Amino acid sequence: MKHLFITVLLLLPLCHMLAQEREYVIVVHGGAGAMAGLENNQEKSALYYAALDSALSIGNAILSAGGEGPEAVMAVVNYFENNPLFNAGKGATCTSAGTFELDASIMEGKDLTAGAVAGLKTVKNPINAAYAVKNKTPHVMLAGEGADRFAKSQGLEIVDNMYFATPKTLKWIEDLKKESKKNGTVGCVVLDKQGNLTAGTSTGGMFKKQWGRVGDSPVIGAGTYADNEGCAVSCTGHGEYFIRHVVAYNLSTRVKLLHQPVGEAADYIIHQELNAKEGNGGLIAVDKKGNFAMPFNSGGMFRGYLYKEKGTGKISKAVGIGEKMKTL
Ligand code: ASP
Repeated sequence: MKHLFITVLLLLPLCHMLAQEREYVIVVHGGAGAMAGLENNQEKSALYYAALDSALSIGNAILSAGGEGPEAVMAVVNYFENNPLFNAGKGATCTSAGTFELDASIMEGKDLTAGAVAGLKTVKNPINAAYAVKNKTPHVMLAGEGADRFAKSQGLEIVDNMYFATPKTLKWIEDLKKESKKNGTVGCVVLDKQGNLTAGTSTGGMFKKQWGRVGDSPVIGAGTYADNEGCAVSCTGHGEYFIRHVVAYNLSTRVKLLHQPVGEAADYIIHQELNAKEGNGGLIAVDKKGNFAMPFNSGGMFRGYLYKEKGTGKISKAVGIGEKMKTL
């Protein structure tokens, strides 16, 4: 009994650390994949570190001024979509036909409202269309031509399908016959000052996808989910497996109903339920206390976090590609 009491006393500070409250938190990802040697390529990795840093700073500017989660998530995902380094918006990967079909979704944890689009061909920023679906329609998901038409009717910026191409993707289109794997996606999860969670994800999908294939990213519960009682989640990786394991909802529900710590539950899903062969990829997640996780079972995942401590006001920020995080 005495030993039990002492053990509980010793564990108390640890529990407190796990439940440490943060004023706000923002976590981003820019896709998971092999990324062999990228960390050692100083010139190339510097571009990704700088982009992740910019994304975090954009989110921080909004959250520190009291802006709400959706505003921060939209601004960060827009930034990634406009940056050709990432597989979302400009720079998106191509279909087997050498065209571009984009997916995105966003969800708010305070009321479980959500919006998603799949197979967009002409909307410059797919996450804006997903947000409009959430706010302006009685629906959750619009797909294909109708989704493009809806976005146009909302006055969103419309572009030619080849706008999404970059010199890199044009080369991939030339090489379509070669077997190759190119994936990556962008996502952002936020705990704002108001205590609400938001998650958003945007992607070009999997390289050489066929027949109108839709991955996990626009599927609420698979690639994106947010529930204030659970957590906010954005996934990246082999979408078919993330759909089968309903990864984002699975994680939020483990936190909500099983009261598992978000890091433990996320590790379990990414390393036990999924693995590098069957469900290659990772996720980012944050709960209402500000605990967050960024596990991946792939070679690497572009990722970063920024949070502000409640008492001290101290801001912590780091970015990573492979195993190691780089504190900024
Ligand atoms: N999950 C995305 C999809 O399957 C791709 C990725 O994240 O790399 O469409």
